[in-house]
Amino acid sequence: MPGLEDLYREIILDHYRTPRNRGELEPPAVKIDGHNPLCGDEISVYLAVDRPDGSDLDDAIVTDIKIGGQGCSISQSSASMMTKAVMGKSVGEINAVMRRFKSMMGIDGIELEATDADVDLGELEALQGVVKFPVRIKCAVLSWNTLANAIVASGAPADDA
Ligand code: ZN
Repeated sequence: MPGLEDLYREIILDHYRTPRNRGELEPPAVKIDGHNPLCGDEISVYLAVDRPDGSDLDDAIVTDIKIGGQGCSISQSSASMMTKAVMGKSVGEINAVMRRFKSMMGIDGIELEATDADVDLGELEALQGVVKFPVRIKCAVLSWNTLANAIVASGAPADDA
């Protein structure tokens, strides 16, 4: 019987070899680049958000997300899993997943909210072994930090067209 670590390794390799949601989105989708100089990872997050006029950014829905760039297996597989975890979700739901994920990665200063205990990380659990390799944690969270910047960028008033 393969152990849990083998299963996790398989999930990571699967997302690295067959990354989900690779590509680009046209404006008005936002594009934000992220870079991890320690490892050379580069990520571009293309984010399309549907935010009805006057609604809270937390209620905006991610209607599409695409990933560009290149880097190590951890950074690329994390980005691929992230796209699956956030597609179709509200920004509020995504922020909860992000808090859980960063908490799992041992990132300082993450304050979990009571309801975060219900968040299902799904395949992202496969990355939990990364926490044992502090230099790789930046690889794992790069796409998430880039997504966070993309969410902020997409929160700009939508009626500037
Ligand atoms: Zn890396």
